[in-house]
Amino acid sequence: MARGIWVLEDQLDAGQAALAAFRPGEARVLLIESESVLQKGWHRQKLVLLWSAMRHFAAELRAAGWDVDHREGPRFSAALADWQAEHGIDELHLMEPADRHWRPSIERSWGRISAAQGARATPLGLVWHRSNAFLWSREDFAAWAGRYRQLRMEFFYREGRRRFGVLMEPASAAAGQEVSQAQADADRQGAGTKRATSKAPKGAKPAPEPQPLGGQWNYDQLNRKAPPAGLQGPEPLLFAPDAITSAVIAKVEQLDSERRAEGQSPLPGLSSPFGWGVTRQQALAVLEHFIATRLDGFGPYQDAMVSGQPTLWHSLLSPYLNLGLLHPLEVIRRLEIAGLERDTPLAGLEGVIRQILGWREYTHGLYHWFGPGYSAHNHFSADAPLPDWLERLEPSGMACVDTVLAELHANAYAHHIQRLMVLANWGLIAGLHPQAFTAWFSRLFIDGFDWVMQTNVLGMGLFADGGLLASKPYAASGNYIRRMSNYCRGCRYDVKSRSGPQACPYNALYWDFLMRHQELLAVNPRMALMLRQLERIPPAERQAIRETAALHRPASSD
Ligand SMILES: Cc1cc2nc3c(=O)[nH]c(=O)nc-3n(C[C@H](O)[C@H](O)[C@H](O)COP(=O)(O)OP(=O)(O)OC[C@H]3O[C@@H](n4cnc5c(N)ncnc54)[C@H](O)[C@@H]3O)c2cc1C
Ligand code: SF4
Repeated sequence: MARGIWVLEDQLDAGQAALAAFRPGEARVLLIESESVLQKGWHRQKLVLLWSAMRHFAAELRAAGWDVDHREGPRFSAALADWQAEHGIDELHLMEPADRHWRPSIERSWGRISAAQGARATPLGLVWHRSNAFLWSREDFAAWAGRYRQLRMEFFYREGRRRFGVLMEPASAAAGQEVSQAQADADRQGAGTKRATSKAPKGAKPAPEPQPLGGQWNYDQLNRKAPPAGLQGPEPLLFAPDAITSAVIAKVEQLDSERRAEGQSPLPGLSSPFGWGVTRQQALAVLEHFIATRLDGFGPYQDAMVSGQPTLWHSLLSPYLNLGLLHPLEVIRRLEIAGLERDTPLAGLEGVIRQILGWREYTHGLYHWFGPGYSAHNHFSADAPLPDWLERLEPSGMACVDTVLAELHANAYAHHIQRLMVLANWGLIAGLHPQAFTAWFSRLFIDGFDWVMQTNVLGMGLFADGGLLASKPYAASGNYIRRMSNYCRGCRYDVKSRSGPQACPYNALYWDFLMRHQELLAVNPRMALMLRQLERIPPAERQAIRETAALHRPASSD
C-alpha cells in the first residue's frame, strides 16, 4: 500500500500527529503551495512567511530522510490529484486541521480523486490523526466546557495551570510534578496528555488543593501601566532573507504584478524588508531572544502603545506558534524554567504564560466548541462597510489608527492592544459589519487563521456574539487611547472633545454607540456605569454627538 501524508501550511512540526504515525520511508510527504490563497488578498508578508516556512520545512524533512514532494500550483485540489496519480497513493493521512474549512474541502477533493479511479478500483483511504498541536484536545475542552453555563477564560486558565502543573506552588505540585526540560520534551511528543499524578494510598490524607505560585492565579492588575514619556522597548530579533525566502519574495511580487495587469487590486502591505523567522531554529532563537531581552519587562507595559515602537516587550511568537514551528507546551515550559531561574517578576511571567496557556488555548477550544454557527453572529446588527482607508491601509486622519495601519502595512503585525483598543474598538463603535471586518483581520495579520480570528475579532473585539466570550463590549472613548499611548499628541483631533469637527472620532462614536444600543446594553450590569454617564449628557449635546459621529461612521451603517 502506498501511503502519503499531506502536511498543511500551519502544521510545520516534525512531531505533528500524522508524521509521528510513520517513520521516514513508510510514507511520502506532500506540501502544497497553492496560489489560490491569492484570491483571499493576504498581506504579502503573510504569503512570504507561509510559503518560505513550508519550503524550509520540506528541506528539513528531506534531510531527516523523508521522501518529500513540494508542489506549487494554482489550486490545492489539482496539485493533490497530480501527486496521487504520480505516486499511486492509495491512503492519505492528515493531522486534523485547526481551521474548520479544510476538512470538508479535503474530503471532497479526495472523494473526487477516488471516484475518478473507476468503479473497479478499491476506494482510496483517508485517515485523520487527532491533532496534537494544542495542549487541550477538542474532546477535553468539550468535557471542561460542558460543566459550565457561562464560560470564562479565567476558570479555564486555572484548570490549565492545575492540569499541566504550570506555575504551581512546589508543595502542591508534589507527586513528581517537577518542572524539567525532560518533561517538556516528553510533553512535546504527547501534547494533550495530563501530567501523571500518583493516587494517594488508602487511609492516607487527601492531597492538598493545588495552589498557584505566589498565592494568586492572576496578577493582571499590576500589568496595565501607562507608558511614561520616552519609553523604549528592546529591539526585536529580525532575520535577513536567505535564498529561499528571497525567491519567495520575488514570486509574490511577480504574482502581484500579474494580478494588477489583470485589473485586480494589489496585494496589501510590503514584502520587503522582511524580517520574520522561517524555520524552527529561527523561531527558537526568537523565543530565547524574548527571554533574554523582554521577558522580565513583559508585564508592566503590556497594554502600552508608543509611536515608532511597534513591538515593545511583546514576544512576536504568534506566527511561529500558529504555523507549528513552536509547540505551545514547549514554549510554556521554557518560559517557566527561564523565568524562575531569572527571578522574572511573577506578574510578567504569569502574564505571558496566561496568554498562551489561557487565551490561546481558550480561543482554539471555543472555536470548535461553538461550532460553525458562531461566525454568523451579529449581536448589534452592525452593517457598515469597511471604509476605503481601512481596505487600502491609507491614512484616516486619526493619528492612532494611522500609526497602527502604517505598522501593519510594513510588518503585517500589530500588538494585542493596538488590535483590540484601536482597530477592533473603532470597528465596534463605528458599527462595521463583523464578518467583513473579521475577514479583513485574517487577510492582513501575519498570524491570522480562522480559529484564532473568529473568537478574537467577532467575540472579544466586536462583541458580535452577544457575550459568549467577553463579559462586556470592549468599547472605549479616546480617553483610553490618550492614557495608554502617546498617539494623541500628534493628532489633528482633540481628544478632550466629544462633538464638533475637531472632536476625537472615538469620543463621538463611543457615546453614539451607547445611545444607539442603549436597550441591548442595559441588560448587562457591567455597562451600568457607562449608561449612567450617558444619562448625564444633556439632550442638545447628545444631538451634537450624533451629528459628529455621523461624519465618521461609514455610510449605510445600522
Ligand atoms: C482583534 C484581535 C485580533 C487578533 N488576531 C489574532 C490572530 O489572528 N492570530 C493570533 O495568533 N492572535 C490574534 N490575536 C491575539 C493577540 O493579539 C495576538 O496573539 C498577539 O498580539 C500576537 O503577538 P505576540 O506574539 O507578540 O503576542 P504577546 O503579546 O507576546 O503574547 C504571547 C502569545 O500569547 C498568545 N495570545 C495572546 N493573546 C491571545 C489571544 N487573545 N488569543 C490567542 N492567542 C493569544 C499568542 O500566541 C502570543 O504569541 C488577536 C487579538 C485581537 C484583539
Ligand atoms: S485624538 Fe482620538 S483619533 Fe486622535 S489619536 Fe487620540 S484617540 Fe486617536
